[in-house]
Amino acid sequence: MSVLEKHYTQEHQIFREAVRRFYEKEITPNAEAWEEAGMVPRELWRKFGEQGFLCPWLPEEYGGVGADFLYSVIALQEMAVCHMSGFVAFLHSDVVVPYLYSFGTEEQKRRWLPKCVTGETITAVAMTEPGTGSDLAAIRTTAVRDGDHYVLNGQKTFISNGLLCNLVVVAAKTDVQAKPPYAGISLIVVEEGTPGFEKGRKLNKVGLHSQDTAEMAFVDCRVPAENLLGSEGQGFHFLMQKLQQERLMSAIGAQASAEEALRLTIEYTKSREVFGRPVSRFQYVAFEMAKMATEVELGRTFLDSLILEHMEGRDIVKKVSMAKYWITEMLNRVVGQCVQFHGGYGYMEEYPIARLFRDARVHTIFAGTSEIMLLIISRYMGL
Ligand SMILES: Cc1cc2nc3c(=O)[nH]c(=O)nc-3n(C[C@H](O)[C@H](O)[C@H](O)COP(=O)(O)OP(=O)(O)OC[C@H]3O[C@@H](n4cnc5c(N)ncnc54)[C@H](O)[C@@H]3O)c2cc1C
Repeated sequence: MSVLEKHYTQEHQIFREAVRRFYEKEITPNAEAWEEAGMVPRELWRKFGEQGFLCPWLPEEYGGVGADFLYSVIALQEMAVCHMSGFVAFLHSDVVVPYLYSFGTEEQKRRWLPKCVTGETITAVAMTEPGTGSDLAAIRTTAVRDGDHYVLNGQKTFISNGLLCNLVVVAAKTDVQAKPPYAGISLIVVEEGTPGFEKGRKLNKVGLHSQDTAEMAFVDCRVPAENLLGSEGQGFHFLMQKLQQERLMSAIGAQASAEEALRLTIEYTKSREVFGRPVSRFQYVAFEMAKMATEVELGRTFLDSLILEHMEGRDIVKKVSMAKYWITEMLNRVVGQCVQFHGGYGYMEEYPIARLFRDARVHTIFAGTSEIMLLIISRYMGL
């Protein structure tokens, strides 16, 4: 039994069953078509919201049910089991909406949150720019105050939900002279339809084909000043705070994918016969599978205890960086080996391991690269 198992109540299990049924009915039969179309339909978000699966953690006054973090964990883990990581509901529910909830005014929350729960509003967060990703302090998008508006200018890239979103939290510089430079960053919420907010091209990716990752541009985009989150200059601090849960979600998704890849490969190697016996009966294969199972188990144990620490509100920066680094690298080791043990079939789209393989690659890159995770860990070690 994993560390987390005993924390799942009957309500959690009911929720798990409901999410699983939803994925089986609404996602699995359509996954291929959406992968080819390059995005999921807006309708899927609404249906997901209707079931109460979006932001269940929000308090009732904003449309949620005040659920604990384990519900978010379940929704994400089950997604890996249905082999469709292109529907990034977790990015909306557990990464972007928390910015609005934690740093929004009462008025902002009442305006934005209820529609985030129903799926009428799909959110995105825009930090990365063509010239900078890891070094957030170097962003060049500016937000200049002009009366009761901010005028935004700049370009963003690699934005998940970039085309479907109708509300985006944008990191922009309200003070380009600030020292240190990160102190000039603010978070401003830009709504779809704001003149000067342009959605760019949908990017052609190696994996996550059904996720609409896109460019964005802000051209003299006038945003009401009341769309600022918190006060000017707090943006970097807010991002550093919320990136922890984003990295935790990334590790949770990666861990679930590694477990699923291993499960599929055990099943496959037991059923595929070569040289007169199942592939799994060759000692080399069995030992490599045992090594993978050990890594997967280590990841699960570390991750589960980290989830509990996060739920207790502890500072998890160092450990979450370790988890994001190690589990996403582990996923790539595991899924690569799993493809290998599928032989040629592992390279065929009709086998789910193929999609898991290409969707895995980005995990060591987005939400902070492995190198940036090592940087954070080493700093925490006083190096
Ligand atoms: C599919 C996808 C979805 C994404 N979704 C979003 C999104 O929704 N919103 C958003 O804002 N961004 C998003 N991103 C962007 C992502 O977070 C960045 O790509 C990532 O942070 C890396 O930035 P970069 O691409 O500019 O790489 P760079 O920062 O240019 O890094 C290049 C290489 O240099 C290494 N490096 C950088 N600094 C150091 C250092 N100090 N020491 C050692 N090595 C270093 C990096 O690790 C990397 O290997 C997404 C990216 C992808 C691919």
